[in-house]
Amino acid sequence: MTHSQLPAGLVVIGGGPAGLTAAFESARNGIRPVVLEAGERVGGIARTEVHKGYRFDIGGHRFYTKVPEVQSLWEETLGPELRLTPRLSRIFYNQKFYQYPLDVWETLRNLGPIQSSAAVLSFTGARLRPNSHEESFEDWVTNRFGRRLFNTFFKTYTEKVWGIPCHEIRAEWAAQRIKDLSFGSAVRQALFPKREDGPKSLIREFHYPRLGPGMMWEMLQDRIGSLGGSVRTREEVTEVHHDGRKVTHVVTRSSNHRSTDIHAPQFISTMALDDLIARLRPAPPAEIVQAAASLRYRDFVLVGLVVRRTGLFADNWLYIHSPNVRVGRIQNFGNWSPDLVPDPGTSSIGMEYFCNRGDSTWTLPDDEFVHLASREVEQLGLAKAADVAWGVVIRQPKAYPVYDTEYRRHLDVLRNWLPKLANFQTIGRNGQHRYNNQDHSMLTGLAAVHRIMGEPADPWEVNTERSYYEEQRVNRTTT
Ligand SMILES: Cc1cc2nc3c(=O)[nH]c(=O)nc-3n(C[C@H](O)[C@H](O)[C@H](O)COP(=O)(O)OP(=O)(O)OC[C@H]3O[C@@H](n4cnc5c(N)ncnc54)[C@H](O)[C@@H]3O)c2cc1C
Repeated sequence: MTHSQLPAGLVVIGGGPAGLTAAFESARNGIRPVVLEAGERVGGIARTEVHKGYRFDIGGHRFYTKVPEVQSLWEETLGPELRLTPRLSRIFYNQKFYQYPLDVWETLRNLGPIQSSAAVLSFTGARLRPNSHEESFEDWVTNRFGRRLFNTFFKTYTEKVWGIPCHEIRAEWAAQRIKDLSFGSAVRQALFPKREDGPKSLIREFHYPRLGPGMMWEMLQDRIGSLGGSVRTREEVTEVHHDGRKVTHVVTRSSNHRSTDIHAPQFISTMALDDLIARLRPAPPAEIVQAAASLRYRDFVLVGLVVRRTGLFADNWLYIHSPNVRVGRIQNFGNWSPDLVPDPGTSSIGMEYFCNRGDSTWTLPDDEFVHLASREVEQLGLAKAADVAWGVVIRQPKAYPVYDTEYRRHLDVLRNWLPKLANFQTIGRNGQHRYNNQDHSMLTGLAAVHRIMGEPADPWEVNTERSYYEEQRVNRTTT
């Protein structure tokens, strides 16, 4: 009997960072995992797609963490392929570049005397009369920056990302992602500069695999294989069967439309919670189905453009705050790793569009999307549309779990019900409806396997603060 014919000790649904980390941890502890991945390749949202030799991230993916076990897994898997990349990312607004977190002098200089005075007045007003009901993202930022800076540097971009007005986004999201940043702290830093108190390498540089994040996940896939586990791509889990107390088996559909039943003593899922609940057989009670169906997501389209010019901009990525273009962020992949761009006489950029599946952005035909992105690059003054050699459109459903005002209530309903299935755990970004990064998803994978091994671990208790270390230090807002 070969390794791949041995019975599975664990079925893992999804071959993204959470699922592969769980599979690897179980394989190295003697529990044979079978990973079932619907997509063509592993990596989930952190995969790297290859078109004509050019490599595209689904948005750029930095590798940063404060968690030693995550860092060592990256290092031992990638070895010398994990490189340090210089970091630069700025806001591009009205043809000017702004550091983020905002640098006071640069902001005032770029805005000019009239807008700057208005910004300072509005900030002073917000400090003197803060909104005492700080419930929304808008309240939270306005209290710390004033309305004028909120309108210029937060509103448009945030609404592009989430597709809902800032007053409908919970303050908790701002508190998690922007941390203790305020215009006041920026002014204090400008007047009394303090040394950055984080390790410099984490702030000015970040780790990144030579061939993009997908390289990490493809190499981990190989390691799982060599430990006796199996990772099956193009195999989607369509049904999750249970007897009310435990999951008995899953049904998969492969790319050749073959259905297979897969049994195992333990199951871990990283699929989105709404998909999971819809695929449970028998269906759970109506209130559970209703709670899952009420969770919202934001979808994402990356338009990769290969431009016959170099040196378009120095940043790894730019935030685009102008309301007159639809693009929200632009990656410059050669600045992440030159090896992503096979022809050094060209640039490869990723134009990021945030949308909802089925809307006019999501459904734009590929050729029209490439035209739109090329026009917008020219409109922003970064390159001529005529310099675009070719483009590719990559659609990513459920890129972001949405923290709307109701999500917590729905999530709690699911979280209370799911433990009824004793041998089943749901982990990862969409598996827990948590806006996390790779390292946090990986930690949920480790916790789930440790729990199977009888340790007192709980993926729901993974502390996001541990993995948001860099945000705490640098006080950035990112998506
Ligand atoms: C634009 C953008 C930029 C980002 N930048 C960074 C960054 O700089 N650094 C960072 O660390 N993180 C970043 N992230 C976050 C990172 O992508 C996620 O944290 C990570 O991919 C989550 O891993 P996961 O395994 O939890 O989920 P996913 O990556 O979503 O993986 C889930 C997998 O499950 C599969 N699946 C789903 N349903 C089924 C099914 N029914 N059957 C079989 N397979 C199924 C999917 O195909 C997918 O491969 C970014 C995310 C986005 C959207």
